[in-house]
Amino acid sequence: MSVNYEVSAEGIARITLDRVEKRNAQDTDLLYSLNECFDRAAHDDEVRVIVLKANGAHFSSGHDMNEPDKIGAMSRWETVGTWCGFSCSDIEAQMGREREMYLGFSERWRNIPKPTIAQVQGAVVAGGLMLVWPCDIIIAGESAYFQDTTIDMAVAGAEFFHHPWEVGVRRAKEMLFTGEPVTAREALDLGMVTRVVADDELAATVQELASVIARKPPFALKLVKQAVNAAQDAQGRPAALETSFALHQLSHAENLLKHGRLVDPQFFTGSRSGLKPSAPAP
Ligand code: ZN
Repeated sequence: MSVNYEVSAEGIARITLDRVEKRNAQDTDLLYSLNECFDRAAHDDEVRVIVLKANGAHFSSGHDMNEPDKIGAMSRWETVGTWCGFSCSDIEAQMGREREMYLGFSERWRNIPKPTIAQVQGAVVAGGLMLVWPCDIIIAGESAYFQDTTIDMAVAGAEFFHHPWEVGVRRAKEMLFTGEPVTAREALDLGMVTRVVADDELAATVQELASVIARKPPFALKLVKQAVNAAQDAQGRPAALETSFALHQLSHAENLLKHGRLVDPQFFTGSRSGLKPSAPAP
């Protein structure tokens, strides 16, 4: 299994990405397994707090760009959304997959009515952001960095386009225009993460925080989470997400017309001027 699940006696569910050899790159099975774990934690009334973490040096290097037949792999799983079309051609199938598994999953997880904490170290790149941003609280090890490299693929940002809410409008633009990382310390200054600790103190820090929250009244926790999420949504977040998702699909369509694939192949060769291959160091 590429995702592990356990619940402690105090009601803390720990969901652990465990595809270390691929730097926790997300293939279809990993994402559906992760979604199942979130559902399991959400449905278990004994679970008070959910922690999402990852084994290895890197939290997640993003979507697995080398997965063969990504859309075919979905047939092994029961889909959770209603936007289908997976057997259609090109953009229609891709949009169906991304609405189900990228935007759809991230929104589902963001709306789980229980506190969620992301515990992150190392690379959190592109699709990796879409696992940590849906969580309520992000605690970072000093090695953590947050990066959206989609500009180098000629793609218009990660599908769960939360950048403006996570780092502010101007930093979001610099992050997206350059594809350069936001460090853990900078993420702390920007309010994206609430604590940065030494990597070897990360697990203990999250454990301590999760224990404090696990002792609070669960229904009140559910209500305050809903209240904060509603405040964010009142700023126009859902409508903005729909717009950015449509623009993201437009960038895939343009790449498909120009290059016959969904992303610009120059990303893989690093041949675009000034482009560095974005894969994190092991
Ligand atoms: Zn996409």
